[in-house]
Amino acid sequence: MKVLVIGGAGYIGSHVVKNLLACGHEVAVFDDLSSGHEINLFSQAEFVRGDITDSEALAKVMQKGFDAVVHLAAKKAVGESMENPQKYAINNLCGTINILNAMADNGVKYMVFSSSAAVYGIPQYLPIDEKHPTLPINFYGFTKLEIEKLMTWYDQLKGIKFVALRYFNAAGYDEDGDIRGLDSAPQNLLPIIMEAATGKRECLKIFGQDYDTPDGTCIRDYIHVNDLAGAHTAALDYLQRTNESAVFNLGTEAGTSVLQMLEACEKVIGRKIPHLFAERRPGDPARLTASAQAAKAKLGWEPKHSSIENIIASTWRVYQ
Ligand code: UDP
Repeated sequence: MKVLVIGGAGYIGSHVVKNLLACGHEVAVFDDLSSGHEINLFSQAEFVRGDITDSEALAKVMQKGFDAVVHLAAKKAVGESMENPQKYAINNLCGTINILNAMADNGVKYMVFSSSAAVYGIPQYLPIDEKHPTLPINFYGFTKLEIEKLMTWYDQLKGIKFVALRYFNAAGYDEDGDIRGLDSAPQNLLPIIMEAATGKRECLKIFGQDYDTPDGTCIRDYIHVNDLAGAHTAALDYLQRTNESAVFNLGTEAGTSVLQMLEACEKVIGRKIPHLFAERRPGDPARLTASAQAAKAKLGWEPKHSSIENIIASTWRVYQ
């Protein structure tokens, strides 16, 4: 297929581009490089620098004729989304409307969208399956859920079939070491542990030690970015095969606590990592784990790279 990866210079997007190329797809990347990196680009994929809030730039690139769009361009900092919802409304919501309009105008049939476990809000049961109520508790999660609804309407009205992939905690780096762009101001646990290990930051602050979990710290479902990438390619195959829209969770179904992650990092790196305990971070549920049964059954997808050791070792290689 001829695929336009929007946000293809970003952390997850660049891994998706690599996987699509390896599976024989023709790929172009559209990215404004606001958080993506030029070193994440692949020479085999044409690169167009542009912003999704620029509908003319999108119309122009879409005229090149694509079978599918993989859309990963978004602002993704949960805390910032609560302080500056305008930025998230314009980038995530308006930007996606521009993409869908450009797709409709140019007859692009399929969309694979990077959604998030943030659409669920506080878990009512675990593991979370796709039928779990969607009640986001932050504006970022709200934008992801609204985009899923927009895609449902564009499916009905314009025939654009979509797969929304609800990522749990994306982590790790390309196992071949081909992708090395680092987040300059990381918000997520593993890059922050890495920065504490290299001395780039003083220490890791562990948000909360009195949760109702075995060691008192929060449990998350960490999924290797190479596994996430493979699911996008599988989603495109699914769309071509079935011509049906769908929503899938992507996780491992296993849980790792913050302390377990820290201890596993110390083991891989071979030294103690400075840390301290801090207040709980508002809005953090104690546990979040995915049921990925639907992705297994319908996409034939299964995590293969997501052991915690592999996630940490592949990340440490890049941080070193
Ligand atoms: N976390 C932490 N210290 C940090 C960053 C994260 O203790 O500096 C914890 C956070 O409270 C959560 C887990 O690590 O329990 C994963 O957080 P992250 O922001 O990576 O992902 P989220 O689960 O919020 O999507």
